[in-house]
Amino acid sequence: MHPFTYSRPATAAEAVSAIVAGGPGARLLAGGTTIYDLMKLNVEKPTHLIDITRLEGLDCIDAGGAELTLGALARMSDVAAHPQVVAEFPALSESLWRAASQQLRNMATLGGNLLQRTRCAYFRGGEPFPCNKRKPGSGCAAQHGLDRGQALLGGSDACTAVYPGDLAIALVAFDATIDVLGPRGERTITVEELYREPGDEPHIETNLGPDEMILRIRVPKDAAGRASTYHKIRDRESYAFALASAAVALDVDGDRVRAARIAIGGLATRPWRARAAEQALCGKVLTSRAAREAGETALQGANPGRDNVFRIELGVRTVADALMIAKHRT
Ligand SMILES: Cc1cc2nc3c(=O)[nH]c(=O)nc-3n(C[C@H](O)[C@H](O)[C@H](O)COP(=O)(O)OP(=O)(O)OC[C@H]3O[C@@H](n4cnc5c(N)ncnc54)[C@H](O)[C@@H]3O)c2cc1C
Ligand code: SF4
Repeated sequence: MHPFTYSRPATAAEAVSAIVAGGPGARLLAGGTTIYDLMKLNVEKPTHLIDITRLEGLDCIDAGGAELTLGALARMSDVAAHPQVVAEFPALSESLWRAASQQLRNMATLGGNLLQRTRCAYFRGGEPFPCNKRKPGSGCAAQHGLDRGQALLGGSDACTAVYPGDLAIALVAFDATIDVLGPRGERTITVEELYREPGDEPHIETNLGPDEMILRIRVPKDAAGRASTYHKIRDRESYAFALASAAVALDVDGDRVRAARIAIGGLATRPWRARAAEQALCGKVLTSRAAREAGETALQGANPGRDNVFRIELGVRTVADALMIAKHRT
């Protein structure tokens, strides 16, 4: 591991000042469950770690108002088990329960979860594998390598790494926003806007400034929240990243869909909102055939490689099954 300095600021403003002072080598430390891993692999080499674990007020879970407010330091396990989150946003709770392991969820924070990095084996494998995300311009080992786990949506010639997280998929379906703090003050962006497709700059993964930190996540409350689910398909039923996942929320008028929200995970380079599939469902009775058609629409444009073609059909069925699960919650 490379040497680094360490500081523990007392306020969020001090943390931002420490990022600015630390320059490009500064990194925030929250639960540490991802950043320490990447440091041990020499993929992340911070020169200064800014420990934000003790900042006050950033671990809140407030479901009392018109929106749910979740502090960036709220623990995954606490949010997953919160009674109001379970009742009003089942997809959110399920996305957290189905992520990682209990030990990790007890340490890991929501802010760190949103900013975890891809599990692409060539990215994490370090030298000698070329990787445009790790080292811009070096090439992409996945292009001629094993591509079973690579993205089918949103990839480019430079990178097809999957965005691996679960929580962000549910947040994108719920139109959630994040408040971020930087040297010029606070701003708000949607969770969907946070993530970038790789294009020819796969090393720039988010639209967060290098000197900004996430303060909190805000999720609007509405009828669709209660009729929602996060459906995750993986190689084993626990402690594994998604091969395909779908967060679905429904607003139903009698038999007919008034509004649907569908976001896909495990298959794309960023949390993937399937708006054409949502539109196609509006005004329809949600039968299993309509759900299947919505799944097919959601996967339109999928661009498989050699070993991951099977994940198109898997994605279609994951979306369709999620829609039927959510229907039973309306
Ligand atoms: C074996 C294993 C299995 C896993 N399985 C899953 C899974 O199935 N699904 C899933 O979603 N996740 C999974 N994870 C990822 C896990 O959820 C993340 O490691 C965790 O959520 C990261 O949170 P943390 O607080 O520990 O972040 P840290 O490791 O402390 O930080 C992660 C990154 O976020 C940055 N950061 C942290 N907080 C902020 C903030 N407030 N503002 C700006 N930047 C910030 C840090 O600088 C760092 O770059 C798994 C992890 C492991 C190790
Ligand atoms: S897919 Fe992306 S992360 Fe994986 S090796 Fe290629 S450039 Fe690196």
